[in-house]
Amino acid sequence: MAMLAPALLGLLSVLVAAYARWRLLPGSVLTAAVIVTAGVASGAGWLATALPLLLLALVAVPLNGLSWRRRYLSAPLLAIFQKVTPKLSDTEQIALDAGTVGFEGELFSGKPDWRKLLAQPKPALSVEEQAFLDGPVEKLCAMTNDWQITHELADLPGEVWDFIKKEKFFGMIIPKKYGGLEFSALAQSAVLQKLMGVSGSLSSTVGVPNSLGPGELLLHYGTQEQRDYYLPRLADGHEIPCFALTGPYAGSDATSIPDYGVVCKGEWNGANVIGVRLTFDKRYITLAPIATLFGLAFRMYDPEHILGDKEDIGITLALIPHDTPGLEYGRRHFPLNAAFQNGPVRGKEIFVPLSQLIGGEKMAGQGWRMLIECLSIGRGITLPSNAAGGVKAGAIATGAYARLRKQFGIAIGRFEGIEEALARIGGHAYAISALSRASAAAVDRGEKPAVPSAIAKYHATERGREVAKDIMDVHGGKAVQLGPGNYAGRAWQTSPIAVTVEGANIMTRSLMIFGQGAIRCHPYVLREMESLKLADYREKLKAFDAALWGHVGFAVSNAVRSLVLGLSFAKIGRVPGDAYTRRYYRKLNRYAAALALVADTSMLVLGGKLKFKEKISARLGDVLSNLYIASAMLKRYEDQGRPVNDQPLLAWAFHDAVYRMQDALDGVLRNFPLRPVAWLLRALVFPFGRREVPPSDRLGRRVAAILCAPGEARDRLAEWVYLTPNANNPVGRMNALLPEVIAAEPVERKFLKAVKAGELLGYDYDAQLADAVTKGVLSQAESELLARVRKASFEFISVDDFDPSELAAGKQHQRKLLRPAA
Ligand SMILES: Cc1cc2nc3c(=O)[nH]c(=O)nc-3n(C[C@H](O)[C@H](O)[C@H](O)COP(=O)(O)OP(=O)(O)OC[C@H]3O[C@@H](n4cnc5c(N)ncnc54)[C@H](O)[C@@H]3O)c2cc1C
Repeated sequence: MAMLAPALLGLLSVLVAAYARWRLLPGSVLTAAVIVTAGVASGAGWLATALPLLLLALVAVPLNGLSWRRRYLSAPLLAIFQKVTPKLSDTEQIALDAGTVGFEGELFSGKPDWRKLLAQPKPALSVEEQAFLDGPVEKLCAMTNDWQITHELADLPGEVWDFIKKEKFFGMIIPKKYGGLEFSALAQSAVLQKLMGVSGSLSSTVGVPNSLGPGELLLHYGTQEQRDYYLPRLADGHEIPCFALTGPYAGSDATSIPDYGVVCKGEWNGANVIGVRLTFDKRYITLAPIATLFGLAFRMYDPEHILGDKEDIGITLALIPHDTPGLEYGRRHFPLNAAFQNGPVRGKEIFVPLSQLIGGEKMAGQGWRMLIECLSIGRGITLPSNAAGGVKAGAIATGAYARLRKQFGIAIGRFEGIEEALARIGGHAYAISALSRASAAAVDRGEKPAVPSAIAKYHATERGREVAKDIMDVHGGKAVQLGPGNYAGRAWQTSPIAVTVEGANIMTRSLMIFGQGAIRCHPYVLREMESLKLADYREKLKAFDAALWGHVGFAVSNAVRSLVLGLSFAKIGRVPGDAYTRRYYRKLNRYAAALALVADTSMLVLGGKLKFKEKISARLGDVLSNLYIASAMLKRYEDQGRPVNDQPLLAWAFHDAVYRMQDALDGVLRNFPLRPVAWLLRALVFPFGRREVPPSDRLGRRVAAILCAPGEARDRLAEWVYLTPNANNPVGRMNALLPEVIAAEPVERKFLKAVKAGELLGYDYDAQLADAVTKGVLSQAESELLARVRKASFEFISVDDFDPSELAAGKQHQRKLLRPAA
């Protein structure tokens, strides 16, 4: 055994160096010292010491000798790399250039520096933003009746439109100097969340002008003249904007728009000027039917070379005023009974001058870059906030309903089947709100979080849809029967809208999250690709060499870390957090290393083909996404002062995320095309097999209990949920009743026991209640409490019914229904 000591301890030293990511030279020196010391101390003899030393020298000397390494290893590899590296398309390059890398880069590194996450400032609203939430937002919520909007008017009522404009809801992203509110991303998110809890049609209407569209595009790329003119008009609702990109032939593949504009001379405001003659057919455009300012994406051509040599100038963005001759708009689509304005807009040979191009002539052809840059921000705010707002309001409502709705003599929230659904609702609500908060905070730190935005958009809306389904099931028929008292049905009905817009979810998951994350967040891949662009060969080789060997060390380290953390059940390593969360950070360390290892191997083995292996790419994206979501939850827990009462929510959502990561990694390995590589990876990633389990039933019970009773954790979950108990807000009223419902429970148990025992006279509730007082089963106060709660609860277990004429859509149909043809 002593003979093997130098080799074994040398190997251990290599593993420690790889695990801890020591640099090559100190790692090699230390390993040599360990081998020699072990040889001397164990008396292993010179051969047993020299052999491992020789082996070490064979690897370490060439790698540490910089000029030798560059010449004999890196140069030939560079030649191969240049040949096999797929060239990025312009679209891909633009997408890659559009964003910055934040904490997601740490997750991709396989060894996240948690101090960076926890050092990020705690997101908070300013006094002014909080006042807006407490003032105009509360007022707008109180004015809003979603049934009136979605069924009776198929539009927001006039006074709601006026209020939105007057209070500058459309100007949240516009700076104060242009008359806007200049809110932080967090404040926009808070406003949208609150509105969403009341009406999806309302929050979409407010969200769109504050997201990708004329306002944001002008802010970033507009000429001074355009900003000075349009931004104040957009801020106070003088102009209603929309942005038209999608058409019948170009949905997900938006770069293929057939809409075009030809450079020519034409007349504008009585003058003869150079401009573009536009022909386009767009659909699904939000706010288009009532818009006054149309942002338009089209491909610009200059066949007569009026502007220069180029004929195909590329995708360009223009602003078209609604009164431009030839513009056709006003008809509406009907998106799943949501009533926000949405419809087609068309034009044939419409002339606008070059001054109507966003950013003027110099930005012609830059449209795609402009859109992608703005999307890297907006995608992380509007839709994730809407999803968070809907899910949180749904969680609060469903918890209260499950407590007051009784079947088989007990609150339905006590049945294990309902508990399971409530646990998913609570857990996802915690996760989605942490995710939405994290992506808004990234924007407020000045990042352009392209990858987190895609993660937030996909996972918030996807889980929003899952939760909407659970909310429906817990409510049963109450949520099925639409009407003013149904606060759940429309949210479920319209949940696919958020899934479809701003990059439909299947494509976002399959192509974008990992596709962009792999290159952008990887510490070496982009550097390797960038090195190829260098013109000077010496510089190119130098840059490539540094990136390549860094990459090799990175890969070795991730393999070692993945195995060691797997073998130790992720129980080792210094991490932040408290006694409750330290194991969570360690678990994320393990899966970050596993992701980095499997992602690297996939890129190495599949190369450019990985782009088309969407199922592999999607699953790797799932691992990255769940790492990001879990980190966002840990940050939220720290920011909120490590609240003990939130621990069941955090734990449920965390175990769910880890289980999803395990599933996704397992899916990659089971379907990995090169089987021997998959076997090796499996040994490194799952040395003891799949050991993660979904959140336990006991944990689920604790989450369900949080939703069903007032408490600190529930209140925190209800942040930015509109709960004022007024006439338009059944959720607020039901929530206000919850303490009395709970207080009545022991009294009701006494009462029901007496009823079941046949002790009380009478056949109906009121008679039995009166007799319970007479017989001393209940006190007068107890009987009044029961009667009060029963009466108040009736409203929430009731559903609406209608005269048939009230349900007929449109006046024509109503007439037909009322007066059948003679
Ligand atoms: C209510 C509503 C409002 C909208 N508002 C606007 C607006 O204001 N302005 C605007 O310009 N557009 C708007 N849109 C358009 C929206 O952005 C598109 O619907 C979306 O981009 C998807 O295009 P599509 O519906 O044509 O689906 P398709 O492109 O036909 O996609 C169908 C399916 O194929 C999947 N898919 C496509 N390509 C791939 C791929 N490579 N890999 C895997 N899956 C893929 C998609 O994920 C989707 O599931 C709106 C749409 C709706 C429904």
